[in-house]
Amino acid sequence: MKATEATQIYFDKAADHLDLSENMRRLLLTAKREVSVQIAVEMDNGEIGTFIGYRVQHDDSRGPMKGGLRYHPEVDIDEVRALASLMTWKTAVMNLPYGGAKGGIAVDPGKLSPRELENITRRFIDGIHDVIGPDIDIPAPDMGTNAEVMAWIMNQYQKYHGFNPACVTGKPVELYGAPGREEATGRGVGVYAVKLISRLGRKPSQTRVALQGFGNVGAHAAKFLREADFRLVAISDVSGAYHRADGLDVSGMLQYSLAHGNTLAGYTEADRITNQQLLELDVELLVPAALGGVITEQNAPNIKAPIIIEAANGPIWPGADKIFDDRGTIVLPDILANGGGVTVSYFEWAQNRQHYQWGLNRVRAELDRALAESFEAVWELSTQRKVSLRTAAYMLGIGRVGRATILGGIR
Ligand code: NAD
Repeated sequence: MKATEATQIYFDKAADHLDLSENMRRLLLTAKREVSVQIAVEMDNGEIGTFIGYRVQHDDSRGPMKGGLRYHPEVDIDEVRALASLMTWKTAVMNLPYGGAKGGIAVDPGKLSPRELENITRRFIDGIHDVIGPDIDIPAPDMGTNAEVMAWIMNQYQKYHGFNPACVTGKPVELYGAPGREEATGRGVGVYAVKLISRLGRKPSQTRVALQGFGNVGAHAAKFLREADFRLVAISDVSGAYHRADGLDVSGMLQYSLAHGNTLAGYTEADRITNQQLLELDVELLVPAALGGVITEQNAPNIKAPIIIEAANGPIWPGADKIFDDRGTIVLPDILANGGGVTVSYFEWAQNRQHYQWGLNRVRAELDRALAESFEAVWELSTQRKVSLRTAAYMLGIGRVGRATILGGIR
């Protein structure tokens, strides 16, 4: 199944509950603009490397479009299109004055030197600088990109348009970034986890967690969950999965990964299992925080966790989602669960425009308020309309975007 087919299935289910007309569905599903640019760079070995960079700008009815940039070998236009639409619903669910966009390059950043990575990033911005900007479309980090890449983007954009740090978010704190942006998505996952399990009558200390992915989102989620007294029994990254039934030493793993170039490869303080086994462990909470499409109709019947929090974008395919719906597995959907990152990106953008930097405590307090409001809104709608949390989140997002579109008018 293509990623856009998966997101359309979720969209249609919510649109049915909202009685949305065919015209409106087509309008809301079609991207405003899709750009693909050639990126040619000289590689360290003197050869010419040719890559394709994508930016899909899905919807701007609620404000400038916002979304991450992904560097991963599996990036293609369909995936970027699906992720751009998720951003539209996510910014609406989080009630931020933004639309949705996404971008990416099909490249493995782990195989590039820092110089190659920088050159590819700068040539990409050369190709798209005139269709992005603080009032048009604001990129941010996603898989395979980080604060350093955002700094290069700001610098390259400014060569064309002059000083304007609000053109990109997720920048280093020393360079107009917001304190707390890097931890924001993982912190949001942790805050939502606490809220969700308490609604379901559980305590963190009685909740065993399996976490897939130990990058920006996964590592910060692990830290927060551990601090909140959850018991993390399995954590994985691209090198494989690490399991300890009586609980992993999360801070030891964070230190290990940091000291070994952001990988757990070679970590010996736990048993090795496969990423597939991690998904199917006997735990109370499963948190996929790496790739999309990892939970399908095939493996869903083997998944034992009664609660799943989608920290990654699109980890559950619709066939699996239906199985979970039917058997009462609670799924906190991506467009809510990982909305902490874009929320602090919004704070960063607003601070950049005011040339005033907030402290970490203020960022955290404002984030926690936004997380609480969005969680309550989705939970209430789900209870009221007797729909899953995913359908409720889509209904909230689509409803807000639909109203803005109608109020703005199309003439
Ligand atoms: P990242 O590149 O920092 O980390 C990705 C992690 O996934 C790494 O630990 C990597 O080793 C691991 N991984 C890769 N392939 C794997 C595999 N086959 N099995 C297990 N682990 C694997 O990326 P990130 O920023 O943490 O993003 C992770 C997910 O969260 C993505 O779906 C992204 O779209 C989503 N997301 C990120 C943000 C953000 O602020 N960074 C915000 C919202 C959503």
